[in-house]
Amino acid sequence: MQKFVDARNCDFERLSLITLILKSIRFRRIEIMKAILVVGDGMSDRPLKELDGKTPLEIAETPNLDKVARAGVCGIMDIISPGIPPGSDIANIALLGYDPIKSYRGRGALEAFGANIPVNEGDVAFRGNFAYIEEGIVIDRRAGRIDGTIFKDYLSEVHLPSHPEISVTVMPTLEHRLVVVLRGRGLSWKVSDTDPHKDKVKVLKSTPLDSSEEAERTAFIVNKLSEELADLMEKHPVNRERAGRGLPRANGILLRGAGEPPAIKSMRELFSIKGGCVSATPTVRGVCRYAGFDVYDAPGGTGSINTDTISKAKTVEQILPDYDLVYLHVKGTDNASHDGNPRLKVKIIENIDKMIGHLLDHIDLDETYLAVTADHTTSCTAKDHRGDPVPVAICGPEVRSDSVALFSERSCAAGGLGRIKGMDLMPILLDFLNKTKLIGS
Ligand code: ZN
Ligand code: ZN
Repeated sequence: MQKFVDARNCDFERLSLITLILKSIRFRRIEIMKAILVVGDGMSDRPLKELDGKTPLEIAETPNLDKVARAGVCGIMDIISPGIPPGSDIANIALLGYDPIKSYRGRGALEAFGANIPVNEGDVAFRGNFAYIEEGIVIDRRAGRIDGTIFKDYLSEVHLPSHPEISVTVMPTLEHRLVVVLRGRGLSWKVSDTDPHKDKVKVLKSTPLDSSEEAERTAFIVNKLSEELADLMEKHPVNRERAGRGLPRANGILLRGAGEPPAIKSMRELFSIKGGCVSATPTVRGVCRYAGFDVYDAPGGTGSINTDTISKAKTVEQILPDYDLVYLHVKGTDNASHDGNPRLKVKIIENIDKMIGHLLDHIDLDETYLAVTADHTTSCTAKDHRGDPVPVAICGPEVRSDSVALFSERSCAAGGLGRIKGMDLMPILLDFLNKTKLIGS
């Protein structure tokens, strides 16, 4: 009897040990789940005449995207809501799981933070162009695509004599583009652009877009600042030299896209998520930074049609061990669509497909979820964003796969995710990562 008890105890102990080991293995497995969200900018499209009534995604050779669709669960997604075309800024806010309408506060701060210029709560940031202006008329709103970085030091200490309490940062970024940040009390992002967005028309005056005192004051400051900057730029020796060579002078600065930081908390704070982002596009980098993500460059990742998508995949592969979630964004598909070039779009989709192929070959699919989607539909016919839903596919170890075998706008519509909203995607991924919180008890 004693022996029996001993044996039973011994078995019991062994059993407990095995259970513990199994539990710890299972626990570790849950802990290390990861996700990659791949976003092809404007990758979704409408059926096009030039492609015999097919979309670029339907025409492109995409064995790897199709593999994700076949192994995964698919659906279509209204980024904001049905029929509403989103800008990339608000679209990426939605894809990160935030309520886009409640969180969005303009593009300026996203763009500035994406270009490593911090914009804090209460600051107002703008995107801008160096421009050639004659007697109040825009002659060339890109000043011959001048490299504005030559004015970096010259513009580093701009003051506004009429508002000494407001600090001004002017930072040239790429080509003729720049960022302006206003810091001080009582500012608002609800002001209009001074950039008329085309040549041969008058430079605009900024006006308040709501009835607040702050908006009125900010519009006044923006107009004063524009005069101040035009005075400064007119005096710059480079402009005298450019005039002598018959080149467009950069004698003015046009501002657009006023914005404050989005009203969001970081994903680390909300879900204990450590996020990384691979994108060359300032707005996407800015959104991810506000979400608390670390932002990475991929060598050869240009943010344009010639981007090196394999390099992007390799960068993701390298950083993935350090993160729960990596956001991988490719811009070129949107550029091709805005240029109305469906054949180029097809080619870039095929490059994205090779990038997906590299990921499928090099990541551990037992512990990684891979989601693919677009941030909006960009129509090659309209050369602009449209409100049609985008396809989405998620594959990974515990996904309830459906019968969809191809990744496209039409085939994904038959998938198991049905029709979701942009802000639904992130909770679905976080749930796979076991990072969501239980509602109720
Ligand atoms: Zn976009
Ligand atoms: Zn676009």
